[in-house]
Amino acid sequence: MDVHESDEPLIAGYDSVVCDLDGVVYRGADAVPDAAESLQGLVARGVRVVYATNNASRVPAEVAEQIAGVGAPATPSDVVSSAQAGAARLAEVLDPGASVLALGGDGVDAALRDAGLLPVSPGASDRELEGVSAVLQGYGRQLRVRDFETAARLLTTGLVWVASNDDATLPLPWGQSPGNGAYIDLLATAVQRRPDVVGKPHPPLYRLALERLGTDPARTLAVGDRLGTDIVGAQAAGLDSAWVLTGVDRPTDLVAGSASPTYVLSSLADLLRPYAVPTPDADGWRCGGARVSPGADGLRIEQDGAAAIEVVRAGLAALRVLRDEGGTAEQLRRGAEMLERVLDDAGPTPLR
Ligand SMILES: [Mg+2]
Repeated sequence: MDVHESDEPLIAGYDSVVCDLDGVVYRGADAVPDAAESLQGLVARGVRVVYATNNASRVPAEVAEQIAGVGAPATPSDVVSSAQAGAARLAEVLDPGASVLALGGDGVDAALRDAGLLPVSPGASDRELEGVSAVLQGYGRQLRVRDFETAARLLTTGLVWVASNDDATLPLPWGQSPGNGAYIDLLATAVQRRPDVVGKPHPPLYRLALERLGTDPARTLAVGDRLGTDIVGAQAAGLDSAWVLTGVDRPTDLVAGSASPTYVLSSLADLLRPYAVPTPDADGWRCGGARVSPGADGLRIEQDGAAAIEVVRAGLAALRVLRDEGGTAEQLRRGAEMLERVLDDAGPTPLR
């Protein structure tokens, strides 16, 4: 929707939220500041919240437990996973009770069962594997080389192949580990074709979330920290999106890509506040008390006691115009780095 200044909290324009998890609600074992209280606040207002996760390895009850563990409201039915979206896709094309190779963690197995299909493990007997009519591939830490050989053997015969998500990497405390996308590439190299992928940024996971919510897409807001998955996926599914700066992506990632979030939030608490909208002003942009204009060496920032997030909204608006008018990648990056410094100076929740 077009965003206008209002005295109402941002969330007043929506009936429901599809919320990402890592980098939005928690980071590993830690709670993201303000997230749990804000989600409680949304539910208290009557807003429906579901959590859409590309993580296919865990079962919804386990995910809900982690969400509740940081103090946010969640039951297993509030969790919509890419494994569930994959199983739903297969249930559309297979007969009820059909056997599917479950190449992934417990979440893949459970999703197939819940969708009325029969999961078959890669370690099953040849007789059981013979009856398989599709492969559902999701991340599974217990998978072994032999399991991928079994999947390749089945896929070579032309079976339906659905993958939960194609995230190339999986962030772990020490850095980046291969994600499900890397394991898809491994199989694709062998079988010379690619799967149908259902997780973000592909629309099926958001569509399943909408089905679960039963709300009007025009009154549903997608919230996430990753531009290339959460925000691009929301755009593909036709949903308004809020990019929250508590996770991995930063202003330099926005100017380097093509995602265009409807809102930019310092934390989920901004959902419960009026949204200061950036507006053009002579040669620059104004947002709340902040004013930002393009300068010879990046951006000219007049913060004047304004909130850091207001500087960032005005600055990103200025950088988007610069991008459209042929600004160089170097100019865009330099401007975005200035905004990142404003965020860093403001601390973990860059509101004040
Ligand atoms: Mg995330």
